[in-house]
Amino acid sequence: MAAVRDSREMAAENPAVELAKSHLVQPWPYAGSIGAEARTLVTSGDGVYLIDGDGKKLIDGPAGMWCINVGHRREELARVMYEQAMELSYNTPWYTMNAPSAELSRRIAEYAPGDLNHVFYTTGGSSAVETALRFMQFYNNVRGRPEKKQILSRGGAYHGSTYLSASLNGRPRDRDWMDAADDLVVKLSSPDPFRRPKGMSAEAFCDFLVDEFRDTVKAVGAQNIGCFVGEPIQASGGVIIAPAGYLKRIRDICRENDILYVSDEVVTGFGRLGHVFASEELFDIEPDMITFAKGVTSGYFPLGGVVISERLLKDLNRSNHPDAMFGHGLTYTSHPVGCAVALKNLDLLEGGILDHARAVAPYFQQRLKTLEDLPLVGEVRGAGLMACVECVADRESKDPLQLDKDVGKRIDQHCHELGLLVRPLINMCVMSPPLVITKDQIDHLVAILREGISRTMDDLRKEGVW
Ligand code: PMP
Repeated sequence: MAAVRDSREMAAENPAVELAKSHLVQPWPYAGSIGAEARTLVTSGDGVYLIDGDGKKLIDGPAGMWCINVGHRREELARVMYEQAMELSYNTPWYTMNAPSAELSRRIAEYAPGDLNHVFYTTGGSSAVETALRFMQFYNNVRGRPEKKQILSRGGAYHGSTYLSASLNGRPRDRDWMDAADDLVVKLSSPDPFRRPKGMSAEAFCDFLVDEFRDTVKAVGAQNIGCFVGEPIQASGGVIIAPAGYLKRIRDICRENDILYVSDEVVTGFGRLGHVFASEELFDIEPDMITFAKGVTSGYFPLGGVVISERLLKDLNRSNHPDAMFGHGLTYTSHPVGCAVALKNLDLLEGGILDHARAVAPYFQQRLKTLEDLPLVGEVRGAGLMACVECVADRESKDPLQLDKDVGKRIDQHCHELGLLVRPLINMCVMSPPLVITKDQIDHLVAILREGISRTMDDLRKEGVW
């Protein structure tokens, strides 16, 4: 039997922290501390705030992981979970169905572009992307073209932590020590204008990306490519906003070559950019599938899904293999509690929060942009209520002060002391607060971030590393 310390003994010292160190495996851990690590304990939330284990009030700068869109402690959402669980807490989706999932699908279909009017529900974003990919494979198998399965993805992308979805990830740190289904994936450049080749205009960079895409399709052969998967704005890559018009041009190439376009709106969906879906509203693209999660329940329940074009379903209906089964399902597909929460969450978004997010976003971006006067800051970029402060050694070299300096983490630690949670990404700080954030709270967030960056600059100077 494993050596387990008496949990009562540990509880007397510092219950959750000590228990975590003994029994919890945290996400994205390092080998040296895996299974023995505690992280900042938070005990409650309220609106845009979290309260940590010391009773300290912190602005939730990243809104959890881009997900607490309507804010913490929403009584309406807590109540609907209770009521739905008391009515019907679960049903087996293999041979029964529930009303909330059908109603939610209708509401989602109303917002989705074109004929994307059917939804397959999952337990989160990774399983949503995984579902879209497996659906593409099934679709092409049934249609008699089993070789058409390569997946196009890009540097800077993050699409999940299941095996196939993770194989699409483009950030080196996600891949360095991990296996991946590399034979199924073709990687393209990150569409990051900040890191485009020196001297290249944004327009030329866009042409370069589009040419690379077209050339890759030619080289691999359209008959071998099943889909392209892309975030409208690469979130975890550092809020990377591709040059204007790029997504639409990629969409057109996909259509010309019968390559399915999967728009991963796990972050951008449900209000982060001021709309339920951003693909059509902001980028003028009509994908074949949209994946979503996070904001669909504002993080109150683990739910995600794929919105699928009716055309694809009809193709399957009419295929020569009507008995072929899509061998894919999850115990919690169409979960009634998750779908009921999502319906209420959508009511809240429609009832003023989407309008608020759109109204406050320019102020958020403009205030954060003022941080560009700090010499450590290379660029502040963003859209809607997502933004990234990217730090560099200097603006000329754009040296990202890699891992050894841990700039993002240093800024996060200072900000934590000052009352703000930051999402550090190597040399970047991501900000994506709950959509209900007010202008005063934005001022407070930016003031703390400024002070956190200033203190980090002092540290780096004192250590003589900057
Ligand atoms: N796609 C994108 C764009 C994401 O940002 C994430 C998570 N950060 C995922 C997929 C995976 O979602 P989940 O963590 O819910 O599995």
